[in-house]
Amino acid sequence: ALTIGIVGLPNVGKSTMFNALTRAQVLAANYPFATIEPNVGVVPLPDERLKVLAGIFNSEKIIPASVSFVDIAGIVKGASEGEGLGNQFLANIREADAICQVTRGFADPDVIHVNGKVDPDDDIDTITTELVLADMQSVEKALPRLQKELSNKKVDKAYVDEVIKAQAVLEDGRTIFSASEKLDLELLKPLQLLTGKPFIYVFNLDDETLADEDLKARLAASVAPATAVFLDAQFESELVELDEDEAAEMLHEAGYEKSGLEQLAKAGYETLGLQSYLTAGPKETRAWTIKQGATAPEAAGVIHTDFQRGFIKAEVIGFEDLVELGSVKAAREAGKARMEGKDYIMRDGDVVEFRFNV
Ligand code: GDP
Repeated sequence: ALTIGIVGLPNVGKSTMFNALTRAQVLAANYPFATIEPNVGVVPLPDERLKVLAGIFNSEKIIPASVSFVDIAGIVKGASEGEGLGNQFLANIREADAICQVTRGFADPDVIHVNGKVDPDDDIDTITTELVLADMQSVEKALPRLQKELSNKKVDKAYVDEVIKAQAVLEDGRTIFSASEKLDLELLKPLQLLTGKPFIYVFNLDDETLADEDLKARLAASVAPATAVFLDAQFESELVELDEDEAAEMLHEAGYEKSGLEQLAKAGYETLGLQSYLTAGPKETRAWTIKQGATAPEAAGVIHTDFQRGFIKAEVIGFEDLVELGSVKAAREAGKARMEGKDYIMRDGDVVEFRFNV
């Protein structure tokens, strides 16, 4: 499964947030998630549609999609100089499919800030600098080889040109992802640059700053096109200790619509380019994870490889249609159940039944 690596300076609330994430996982332990590993948090993706479908189909249980977060420990500052824990830090980031940096915006004087002051922009710069330096080294190492391969016509000129463009972005102190409008990230993939991965920034705020819409808008704009998530890690860690009703009440009292972890799970799912299709029946209602743009046979393959191999067609009903019409039978009669073939591109929220040969 695709994973999101959590990074951050010491004392920004990383462990607090990660523990809340893994606690959410423990609470969801009746779900068939991957084995529990100490540094991996597999978090259920909240999806309002599942309850509705489970109601329509009288399902015994609900199985949501999930998002995996990996806690990436290690030395941040000086990591690009490549020693011990710093090296390990970069190696772990290389394995993640997206990077989630936690930055500190809460102002508790009892918690020391490693850079001496609470300044999320500065936190971001510190880590960005290390990752950019590491990428510059990768590019500097690759370029002489690529130039040589170009003269032997072993690589495309377009690729080498793109690498040179990427180098200029890095020399400017910017991440490759932040320049995704100017650069062809697909073309650059073979270089496996750290800053070419999608980024999410979690701003760990307190009540006061969470209520400051101007501040949040400024922070969100400062990290665009990366996604910004605003939460209070300490509040989240208390929230996951409560049962569902109590948690809802505490959220409501604090004036929030959704928990920060829910927002983070959603942001993570989208950042990874994932979407869900749904299956429903008396046994279970379930969300299945596929890549955006996946075809119907690829979607079937997530359930079982035999489903993909023997794919005949998929009966697809849009979630909204199904809810409006109230049953599969009614949806069929209204002509809202479509038979889709192997070229069909799945849409988020499709309710599906596959037909296949075994
Ligand atoms: P890490 O080093 O980034 O993993 O940070 P920790 O999660 O260990 O947090 C460092 C300290 O800050 C701990 O004492 C936490 O209790 C505290 N802390 C974490 N998040 C918050 C927060 O949102 N508000 C306040 N006031 N303290 C926090």
